[in-house]
Amino acid sequence: MLFGICILEIIKEKIPIGETMAGLYLHIPFCKQACHYCDFHFSTSLKRKEDMIQALISELSMRKDELGSQHVATIYFGGGTPSLLTPSELDRILGQIYVNYSVESEVEITLEANPDDLQLSRIKEYSQGGVNRMSIGVQSFFAPELRMMNRAHTEEEAYRAVADALSVIGNVSIDLIYGIPGLSEERWLENLQMGFDLGIQHLSSYALTVEPKTALAAFIKHKKYPELDENLAATHFEILVKAADDNGFDGYEISNFAKPGFYARHNTSYWQKVPYLGIGPSAHSYSGKHRSWNVANNAKYIKSINAHCLPSENEELSVQDQLNELIMTGLRTMWGIDLNVLASIGEESDRIRLLKAAQKPLQDGLLMLENECLKTTAKGKFLSDGLASDLFFVD
Ligand code: SF4
Repeated sequence: MLFGICILEIIKEKIPIGETMAGLYLHIPFCKQACHYCDFHFSTSLKRKEDMIQALISELSMRKDELGSQHVATIYFGGGTPSLLTPSELDRILGQIYVNYSVESEVEITLEANPDDLQLSRIKEYSQGGVNRMSIGVQSFFAPELRMMNRAHTEEEAYRAVADALSVIGNVSIDLIYGIPGLSEERWLENLQMGFDLGIQHLSSYALTVEPKTALAAFIKHKKYPELDENLAATHFEILVKAADDNGFDGYEISNFAKPGFYARHNTSYWQKVPYLGIGPSAHSYSGKHRSWNVANNAKYIKSINAHCLPSENEELSVQDQLNELIMTGLRTMWGIDLNVLASIGEESDRIRLLKAAQKPLQDGLLMLENECLKTTAKGKFLSDGLASDLFFVD
């Protein structure tokens, strides 16, 4: 375990990221069907898929100078469902990236994929095209939870897709959801163990949450589905943390667990505040001091890009915003809040103010201070978002 080392040190040591690196995120806004809990931006109509690919390619070209001399170290196809792109469609987009950007030779290229899209031959083609990391949306290996969430795949497809991906790509992550009403502690542990036994290198695991305007929110409102139980989610989280540890995985972020050497470079760079460009509808970008986001509407996005106009809004991050982001991401990760970084963004007095505000959770054993880094303890980990908001700087 690597506790005791601050985030900047660990990233320098474990992840070959330099000052001049950047990430590229591409949002593929299509899904076969809507999962009941999901509030991401996507369309279930694929009619305009080709128009969208053309628009993504155009946006990549329009924004090619935004990264300046920074090299692209990570490329992440997220969504939506990027595995709805055929390997040749993915190749076209990747080709455009290589034409317009300086891409590191050791670039991490992640494709989010759903099990029902992953035949062995297709995985091989993605791999030949450059995909060297796959993040598979399993969510559950069991039919009752898959049905409840309205996932498009079966339990058999989930198992086979992960096994096939592992046979081709040496870096496979799966997503699993916990806190689902009716999911017993035993079946949750079985879910986890199936992933570990298959030989995955990385696990992203999230508590089911009710987002406004989702089918899940409507079902709960109309009593067709039970309210979510926070205690159940907390128990499942404890099981998750222990099972991950027992199987040699580091819990390096509250929702992310990896075998040593397999931390997601792309996601880690978000937490390290590495700049990134977000391409596609609803995609967010970060330049260090600014954030921007594209319109979350496929038709408007395509129309605007075709008119050579970037459909985005942006905001300048105040010092207070930057401090609060540092607190939020710091408490979610194993590296904690680096107090020296905090003082360099703000002022020395901010370090003192933060430590004063942290006294109670420190005494309660929810936070700990190690090597000038403020971190959540095992007891405080599940509460990290609430702890962070208690520490936020407010005017
Ligand atoms: S496949 Fe993913 S993005 Fe699409 S609806 Fe389901 S959870 Fe959301």
